[in-house]
Amino acid sequence: MNQPLPKSKLVPKVGLVSLGCPKALVDSERILSQLRAEGYTFSQDYDGADVVIVNTCGFLDSAKAESLAAIGEAMKENGRVIVTGCMGAEARQITDAYPDVLAVTGPQQYEAVVKAVHAAVPPVHDPKLDLVPPQGLRLTPRHYAYLKISEGCNNRCSFCIIPSLRGDLASRPAASVLYEAERLVKSGVKELLVISQDTSAYGLDLKYATSKYRGRDVRARFFDLVRELGNFDAWVRLHYVYPYPHVDDILPLMAEGKILPYLDIPFQHASPRVLKAMRRPANQEKALDRIASWRRVCPDLAIRSSFIVGFPGETEEDFTYLLEWLKEARLERVGCFKYEPVAGATSNALGPHVPDEVKEERWHRLMQVQQEVSAGIFAAKVGREIDVLIDEIDMENDEAVGRSPWDAPEIDGNVFLPGGTALRPGDMVRARIIAAEEYDLIGEAV
Ligand code: SF4
Repeated sequence: MNQPLPKSKLVPKVGLVSLGCPKALVDSERILSQLRAEGYTFSQDYDGADVVIVNTCGFLDSAKAESLAAIGEAMKENGRVIVTGCMGAEARQITDAYPDVLAVTGPQQYEAVVKAVHAAVPPVHDPKLDLVPPQGLRLTPRHYAYLKISEGCNNRCSFCIIPSLRGDLASRPAASVLYEAERLVKSGVKELLVISQDTSAYGLDLKYATSKYRGRDVRARFFDLVRELGNFDAWVRLHYVYPYPHVDDILPLMAEGKILPYLDIPFQHASPRVLKAMRRPANQEKALDRIASWRRVCPDLAIRSSFIVGFPGETEEDFTYLLEWLKEARLERVGCFKYEPVAGATSNALGPHVPDEVKEERWHRLMQVQQEVSAGIFAAKVGREIDVLIDEIDMENDEAVGRSPWDAPEIDGNVFLPGGTALRPGDMVRARIIAAEEYDLIGEAV
């Protein structure tokens, strides 16, 4: 097979297409930081790149199709392509479609990706180029960063193939996470977004071993880590938390303002029958009581969650149970997905499968119920004064666009500050909420 020759001999250039979730984005950042340290530079377009890395997502069939399309585009536009990420665990599907890809590596195989880049375009050592900021390279804006505390997952939810792609839970030592957080905050990060597959299971695999951070022993335990992160001068937002009993312990940290009053808990359903078929962790019927007790400790708590409608065997009764549950739970932010059979997931064998039109109809009903709930919650915030972290300045619309403590980047809403064009991304401002829209808030700086 004839591959085109590298385009730039002096400074090798790498292109990157990063698909999938924030966890994949963190993997991309690690790969780029390593390559940058070795003297590679990066190209914004296919044409200028000597080799293109495609970091894929292989969770749902639709994500796989998107990944294959991205590989196809990179092959057509550039021709020298290395594939990594979740879909890399199914190398055959990729090489069957694109036999000329240079290499296929699986998720978290940073070294294998870097090795494949070396093979495609050897590194050029130049001390001037070997400078990489100690905090590494980040693909997210300067003022927020994802902090990955563990890889893999010990659960076996029936609709999910992540454990077979990413393996069992493997937590980072607490000190390693804390030193990374410290570097990020020193480099200007104002918000740390803690991610993993199962954040509240952090440290279980390490048997909560201690490690030394700034001369102190810190246990690799969810509460200990979160408390330590709360000491940094940055917002700390927790994603992918399962409501294990020890999650109750961190609510006082939220009430004290040490970490954001925000919990991203992917409940996925409420009907005990469906939850059992999903084999969800911390699947307990008392979730509503837990939520109520958390709100008693921290009334400002915002809960974001995602749900799947049309799971195999979901009856109309299960679904209406979920709607009633949502009305009672009054979650601030909700995402909803229609069940998609993922190749290799054990839930595919469950039945009966829900027809597509029923899934569609349930999706609309759920979103409507939730819209009413969210609208009520956010309308009640009008008149309050809150901190807003500015993400961007929109000159065209003469406004600053930021987020409240209740909004994670990309998935939740925004706070718009009309006339706030003198602000800068990363600024933290106090603002009074003057209006609430369906998903967003309007404020004025005070
Ligand atoms: S908790 Fe369940 S859905 Fe999440 S990664 Fe683990 S197995 Fe998959």
